[in-house]
Amino acid sequence: MDEDKGDIRMKVDFKDIAKDLLYYTGISRSLLWILRISGCSMWLIFTYHRVSGDSRNNGYLSIPDYLFEQHVRFIKHNFKAVSMLDGLETLQQGNSKDIYATINLDDGYMDNYLYAYPILKKYHVPATVFLATDFIGKRHIFWWDRVFRVVSSRRVNSIEFHMDSKKMRFSLDGMQKRFFVTNRINSFLKTKSEKEREIFIEDLEKSYPPVQDTVPAVMLGWDEIKKMMDGYISFGAHTKTHRDLRTLDDEEVLEELRGSKKEIEKRLGTEIAGFSYPFGVFDERVKALAEKAGFKYARTTVQGFNHSGTDRFLLINITVGGPDVKLSFLVSRISARLLKIGWILLYRTGKKR
Ligand SMILES: [Zn+2]
Repeated sequence: MDEDKGDIRMKVDFKDIAKDLLYYTGISRSLLWILRISGCSMWLIFTYHRVSGDSRNNGYLSIPDYLFEQHVRFIKHNFKAVSMLDGLETLQQGNSKDIYATINLDDGYMDNYLYAYPILKKYHVPATVFLATDFIGKRHIFWWDRVFRVVSSRRVNSIEFHMDSKKMRFSLDGMQKRFFVTNRINSFLKTKSEKEREIFIEDLEKSYPPVQDTVPAVMLGWDEIKKMMDGYISFGAHTKTHRDLRTLDDEEVLEELRGSKKEIEKRLGTEIAGFSYPFGVFDERVKALAEKAGFKYARTTVQGFNHSGTDRFLLINITVGGPDVKLSFLVSRISARLLKIGWILLYRTGKKR
């Protein structure tokens, strides 16, 4: 049995205080300012999934709309907000003195249209939405959201299940813990076949029946997608069925890549240049096939910032969603990382002189 020791919450609380201190004392912002005037060229991609209109009902990989607005305002005021193609061009030229930033939204949830789009429009901030085309216009609930629906249910205070032959038991006190357990289960299920995953989730739902009136997430339809194309929002491909491409053969991978690309191009009458790897995962073969399928770039979920040496088929990002979506946390996270990278770049520049 793998029983959690219950010390996660304590650790997170101390970290939270440190992040808040960094932010509210202004240290984070000072670091950003120093880096901006130091002339280090960088491109930050912020990846979101869901934006919730209800601050009490925060879904998996979700951010409440009022916090999303704080993030967008921060990005607009502290970086040069650009589209993916403009960011890519800047990266390839490698001579910009600005820090660029772009917003991505993965999967194509309807809440992107309802809550994210009006905010992006209000602040004139561009974003790219990556669509898994087989789910467009459907009342679909992704398997990782089904897991979160069970684990986040307030009627469930502890949970038991088997990971392979190992019995696991977790108490579910607090949202941090519920996210932790969801991530643990989802990471495990990502490695399983579709059939094995379905059996696991069905068992979980049988043991802990989800509330019946929970409305499945509705995905974006073509009407909403077309309405969003007014200069601020562009679209990219995220395969047809959102499977781990490493588990498919070449022909299947190309069908997922070309199929989603062509479908969006046909519907929107515009070239689709960008691709986002489902689950952010890739290997050399999948990366080569993304290039073969005709994309100009592909984004992973590797955490960090892009610079002139970044491979355009391995763009890296900052994933936002879950329990730690406060602006102060995000700013502290990026300024600490920027400081590290900025320091390396300044050191290199100094050595060249
Ligand atoms: Zn996805």
